[in-house]
Amino acid sequence: MTTPPYDAIIVGSGPGGASVARDLARRHWRVLVLEQGSAAPLSGTLTQMASMAAIPGRGLFIHRDASLLVQGIGAGGSSALNFATAAAPPPAMFAAHGIDLSRQLAQLRAELPIAPLPDSLVGPMARRLTAGARAAGMDWQALDKMIRPARCRAGCWRCVYGCPFGAKWTARDFLDQAIENGAVLFDRTRARRVLLEDGRAVGVVYTRAGTTQVAQARVVVLAGGAVGSSRLLHASGLRGATSGFFSDPVISVMGAVDDLAVAVNDGEDAGNEVPMAAGVRFDGDGISLADLALPRPLFQAFAAQAGRLDRLAAHARTLSVMVKIGDEIGGAIGPRWVSKPLHASDRLKFARGVELARAVLREAGASHVFASHHFAAHPGGSVRIGDGVDADLQTAAPNLYVCDASVIPGPWGLPPTLTLLCLGTRLASHLARQT
Ligand SMILES: Cc1cc2nc3c(=O)[nH]c(=O)nc-3n(C[C@H](O)[C@H](O)[C@H](O)COP(=O)(O)OP(=O)(O)OC[C@H]3O[C@@H](n4cnc5c(N)ncnc54)[C@H](O)[C@@H]3O)c2cc1C
Repeated sequence: MTTPPYDAIIVGSGPGGASVARDLARRHWRVLVLEQGSAAPLSGTLTQMASMAAIPGRGLFIHRDASLLVQGIGAGGSSALNFATAAAPPPAMFAAHGIDLSRQLAQLRAELPIAPLPDSLVGPMARRLTAGARAAGMDWQALDKMIRPARCRAGCWRCVYGCPFGAKWTARDFLDQAIENGAVLFDRTRARRVLLEDGRAVGVVYTRAGTTQVAQARVVVLAGGAVGSSRLLHASGLRGATSGFFSDPVISVMGAVDDLAVAVNDGEDAGNEVPMAAGVRFDGDGISLADLALPRPLFQAFAAQAGRLDRLAAHARTLSVMVKIGDEIGGAIGPRWVSKPLHASDRLKFARGVELARAVLREAGASHVFASHHFAAHPGGSVRIGDGVDADLQTAAPNLYVCDASVIPGPWGLPPTLTLLCLGTRLASHLARQT
């Protein structure tokens, strides 16, 4: 038998894929990363963000009930566009599958810039909401962020479009380290299916520059995200046409204040600040609240979608509270579509969360309060541990692994990135031990 040219092919370069790629490359594995999006440098512009997350059927999915599911398509996956909030993996959920991520978590915490924002980077809207939430009796605390304060600029919001200053940690950081250690990245390259021989994964069929080609490897890791990996398994004949999933849907509850202590910076106006500086989690209810300042075009899109054209000009005065719920696993990721209707229990959580957000805004002195339609940005749980993969993240096909948000074993409601980095680090160690 001839030796395949790669030790591992990794499909997708988000947090799951980039962490496996980096750690295997550091162990001198010959690694090929296939990423369907572009690896062009992040510019922090609306145009680039839209090209990654607003093309229907690629980064943007519109459900039948008009709610939206957003994901980032490009090097770093959704981490390029995310809000940089870090949360530790919930130990009990993983312990139920015999998985302990505490060692990986300690290692990543020691390595990555994970800490609350310094006061100088907390915007006036986040400060006002903290005061409102505490006046409402909530245990509203600073959230851990994956941001390098020395490179972050007060009054800037560009992390939401893709931080061009290197302040926000993204999976591109790990991808770059993988490449420094010899990994090969093919961007604008779409994996079509896993190549199987006698039921074992031996490579990937992919399309690059209009040509369909095959790459072979000892190990294949699917890290295309909850939508991408379940579709690839189906296209490879290894899974049914549809997979249920969670999406961690969000409603933004907004209200205006007239006396905001505005910190205008470099010609920017208020409403431009790092989102999710602080918040609270009601664990038993599966509800989280946080400040959610958004750049003007996104705020206006939410106001328009809610039919509040009267608020379009109020961006600089409008406080926004994010209500996120851990929704039930359900709906379906299909080969060409995605559908995620809310369960009755999800609607109840939202009703409770919106009530809590209104209390925060009331205490913050806001008026003209309205709520957006729900939208989502954390699809996961479509190829769950204990269902689609085993505790080592291996599928039923030997040598084929999945490492991304799809493997999260149950309803979620947390920022997933740090958990996915823990899982990727753990998978790389496991693979290194196996061979
Ligand atoms: C607006 C927004 C805000 C968020 N805020 C936070 C936050 O504050 N904190 C947090 O922890 N998380 C946040 N998230 C979620 C977090 O970023 C994602 O959960 C995480 O990036 C998922 O990682 P992943 O490895 O599963 O895959 P992804 O990040 O989805 O990456 C998958 C990659 O695989 C590629 N791919 C898919 N299919 C193929 C194929 N067939 N061939 C080649 N490439 C393919 C995709 O193009 C993509 O780049 C946010 C997400 C968004 C969109």
